[in-house]
Amino acid sequence: MPLRYDMPLYRPPSEGRNLIIQATIGCSYNRCTFCSNYWTKTFRVRPLEEVFRDIDVAAAEWPDADRVFLADGDALMLPTDHLHRILDRLASALPQLTRVTSYATPDNVNRKSVEELTGLRESKLTLLYVGIESGHGEVLKRVSKGASPQGIGRAINRAREAGMKVSAMVILGLGGREYSDRHIDATIELVNNAPPTFLSTLQLDLQRAEEPGFLARWGKPFEQLDDMAVLDEMERLVTGLDPAHPVIFRSNHASNTLPLGGTLPKDRAKLLSAISDARSGRGVRPWFLRGG
Ligand code: SF4
Repeated sequence: MPLRYDMPLYRPPSEGRNLIIQATIGCSYNRCTFCSNYWTKTFRVRPLEEVFRDIDVAAAEWPDADRVFLADGDALMLPTDHLHRILDRLASALPQLTRVTSYATPDNVNRKSVEELTGLRESKLTLLYVGIESGHGEVLKRVSKGASPQGIGRAINRAREAGMKVSAMVILGLGGREYSDRHIDATIELVNNAPPTFLSTLQLDLQRAEEPGFLARWGKPFEQLDDMAVLDEMERLVTGLDPAHPVIFRSNHASNTLPLGGTLPKDRAKLLSAISDARSGRGVRPWFLRGG
């Protein structure tokens, strides 16, 4: 029997060539107003037998798979021993396995001790995708993120302490025109104090965010940023980031106006020059190639 997924299925751009195993269905939180990914799904933990069956089917079809992404929206919410059972099964079914990754909310991370996270990392769960979205507390509240800037910073530093890599996401335009400067300044502060290994930008997609009611739940008028204002945010962010550890910066998600890549602070000048070129239209992704 082929591997069947409970659709829709989402994964980070960098997991496009890797095996995906659904350990949970949907998102246990599912309240962020900018995210409609799991809006149609009722959250559930998949029974281990189902997950094991998927692993065995996948291993028979793709025995050399070496990287696995655990879906759906926040597989790290699973109890630590449950995760270990999945990781052990993956390791025995896939002899070439080098790494396992998953999405995680800041709360998922903060609910686990550094020792638990270390144990998971030793069992090859080596990288977590964590949404920062914004470093500004009021923006986070208005989008119902369910996490404070302090909690997000704590989660990133906790994962780092456990030896895990963190790939974090920031959403450009999330504060609209009114909060734009504060959104970016606070995000710079958060990232400089809690540098992830990778930092990606996404761009607010209001059309998709309409489903969970972004505008209605924002609580006051919201003025969306145009592409030039989004480039301003990106420039301000790249200029201000000066993390204690190098951060690999990317804006390769399909929602971005400008696809960029480099390491901060080393490549700051190169990134700023690409942003400056984009103001005259060079390198900008046409709107019809953008997606959520
Ligand atoms: S952004 Fe993440 S935590 Fe928020 S609803 Fe979407 S999947 Fe869940």
